[in-house]
Amino acid sequence: MKAKMPNKPSEAATYLCNKCSKQFKFEQGTLICPSCQNTNKSDLVVISMKDNPEENQMYTEDDFLGG
Ligand SMILES: [Zn+2]
Repeated sequence: MKAKMPNKPSEAATYLCNKCSKQFKFEQGTLICPSCQNTNKSDLVVISMKDNPEENQMYTEDDFLGG
């Protein structure tokens, strides 16, 4: 059984900042917009997963829980 992680690491992906509309690639560390330094994850949305660009519209929560 896996415990839920309240602060799971941000996925390596291309993100869109909703505050300034900046798109940026994120690998690891602290997720932050390089343009406006926004760190609010609710404003930083994944627009392209790094590993499965063709499946980025198909992934479900099972992918996070199953691995
Ligand atoms: Zn921004």
